[in-house]
Amino acid sequence: MKLKDIDAHVLVKPGETARLKERDCVCAGLFPDKDEAEKVRKDNSKAIDALQDKMWAERTRALLVVLQGIDTSGKDGTVRGVFNACGPLGVCVTPFGRPTEEELAHDYLWRVHAAVPKKGIIGVFNRSHYEDVLVVKVRKLAPADAVERRYEEINAFEKHLTQNGVTILKFMLHISKDEQAERLQERLDAPEKHWKFNPGDLEDRALWDDYAAAYETALTRCSTAHAPWRIVPADKKWRRNAIISSVVLETLEKMGPKYPKPDWKASDFKIV
Ligand code: ATP
Repeated sequence: MKLKDIDAHVLVKPGETARLKERDCVCAGLFPDKDEAEKVRKDNSKAIDALQDKMWAERTRALLVVLQGIDTSGKDGTVRGVFNACGPLGVCVTPFGRPTEEELAHDYLWRVHAAVPKKGIIGVFNRSHYEDVLVVKVRKLAPADAVERRYEEINAFEKHLTQNGVTILKFMLHISKDEQAERLQERLDAPEKHWKFNPGDLEDRALWDDYAAAYETALTRCSTAHAPWRIVPADKKWRRNAIISSVVLETLEKMGPKYPKPDWKASDFKIV
């Protein structure tokens, strides 16, 4: 499926409202068949790996993939499904948890800027600077006027990155409240998944509407021409992976990395 057909369902057009509440978390029209979607994901992952290899050989630009979504929305699963083929050489995944004392002693973008992938690499943010207008807003961890300024600051920061060789893709993994209940219940039911259960997740679940409102604002105000948001229907993991891998692949194809041509001929050398 081509990017423009996917984007008809998932893109938050810059200047338009995100309309998160109206968006379907299933979106059965996109990659309707599970087996087909899984094949697409597999093929895409391999193709992403091949293009990343060229990007590394070129070492002139980077790709940053931002994954945002509430607990259980599938951020880790996306990394596993879409980027595992690249292996540790090509992809650098950075999770953003509660800031450390050291991080809090700096401005909120300090730790984020430091994690931006270097040229040649695909960087994946598991959560991101958007937490600074999501959890921070919902839980009132910073003054309201400081949060209010952040949307513009984030847009300027992302513009700075894109003007300096970093292509940015931002995905909000959109799951329904019912799906989250099922996924949390699975974590309670299966002893081997207990480690994934965090009682704090239930506190955030109780704040569902507040998070939805904070997401609506962030997705609307920070979907820009240089770094638009995509809201990915994520109730079906296989569809989520097919969509995201397709967007990543077509973006890399458009970037068109090529192996650099050496300034010597192989025939000039003889290995003895
Ligand atoms: P995840 O749910 O992302 O898989 P996790 O539950 O294992 O992760 P961590 O990665 O340790 O937990 O941290 C995620 C938590 O950190 C989330 O609750 C998130 O809201 C919080 N967090 C992230 N950034 C910030 C921030 N800037 N300020 C406060 N809390 C933050």
